[in-house]
Amino acid sequence: MRHTPLTWIEIDVAALGHNLATIRKLAGNRLIAAAVKANAYGHGLREIVTLLLKERVDYLAVNSVEEARMARACGWTKNLLCVGYIPLGDLDAVFEANIEPTVYNRETISRLGWLASKYQKAASIHLKIETGTNRQGIEPGKIERILAAAKKYPFLHLKGLSTHFANIEDTTDHSYASFQLRQFKAAVRQIRRLGFKPDYRHTACSAALLLFEETKFELVRPGIALYGLWPSKETYLSYRLRGGSNDILTPILKWKTRVIQIKEVPPDAFIGYGCTYRTTSKTKLAVLPVGYYDGYDRSLSNLAHVIINGKRAPLRGRVCMNLIMVDITDIKGVKLEDSVTLLGRDGAEQISADQMATWAGTVNYEIISRLSTQIPRFVV
Ligand SMILES: *Cc1c(COP(=O)(O)O)cnc(C)c1O
Repeated sequence: MRHTPLTWIEIDVAALGHNLATIRKLAGNRLIAAAVKANAYGHGLREIVTLLLKERVDYLAVNSVEEARMARACGWTKNLLCVGYIPLGDLDAVFEANIEPTVYNRETISRLGWLASKYQKAASIHLKIETGTNRQGIEPGKIERILAAAKKYPFLHLKGLSTHFANIEDTTDHSYASFQLRQFKAAVRQIRRLGFKPDYRHTACSAALLLFEETKFELVRPGIALYGLWPSKETYLSYRLRGGSNDILTPILKWKTRVIQIKEVPPDAFIGYGCTYRTTSKTKLAVLPVGYYDGYDRSLSNLAHVIINGKRAPLRGRVCMNLIMVDITDIKGVKLEDSVTLLGRDGAEQISADQMATWAGTVNYEIISRLSTQIPRFVV
């Protein structure tokens, strides 16, 4: 067993509490489903679920049976919504782990209904409605048929109706979201006319929760905000332009490593694979034991910075599988095994997931969710 990890992630429990307080305030008296799919957006499913056990959170939203089982193994006894597809052959798990599946196929409903009758056990399902994202969801024209199938099974309970917005974080213009909301409401009316009385309607991701009151209904499904990140610049700007304060969300994750070698290289020396960086003067380098295997994206090559002793050190050369090199010429007193911040705040300096996403040409969601599951997570 290794006692000195070379790279690790720290989860700030106080910051999580702060973000949850914000979410609760925005949610009012509605139920909260915390999205912990994708290893809790890279933060560590076990660590985050364990922290949420003590919080006023009503649901967890996971993507798979595996994640649902992990949440149960952590002691989560409350509601568990699976937003991802569960293979027909694995639907037994709905009863074993008490999962509330998201459904939109007739095959899923029939299989669930049949299993429910076999086990004489109720299954609470959430029907996902296609409103214009054209991802998962039942098309409005097929709702009547799919619910007729559901009606045949007395143990199936239509607990929720949901949809997901296509264009809420990428724009300050909410006309497409409004269109989807109208589609959703029409479907809800149709379903009620068919004699169903679902308990919860839910549509709101973080951006909707932050900006769009009408989307909240009875249950909200925030993910990224829980981890202290804004869904996008547009969401942040819209929120601020309405007079909202900028301190409502605090990132809860720090990703760290240690210096494993310090060396001086002469002027005109090449650094790393492909000789993509060449020094212009005598340069002091620190070698760090992280790479794209750990989730430090290769597109950060020659672009990113890390923080050492409270100062920024620029990356030199390409990101390797397990290593990167950074320039510490202007940072005094760096020693072997000194800790380094790859992501997060260190004193007055900060490398945000948003900054990293800009360097890598992606979104903060991808930066955090792809942090390797093998990196140890510590709650601080
Ligand atoms: C991931 C997910 C969310 C959470 O989205 P955020 O933008 O992270 O708040 C909500 N609903 C569904 C269906 C999701 O898959």
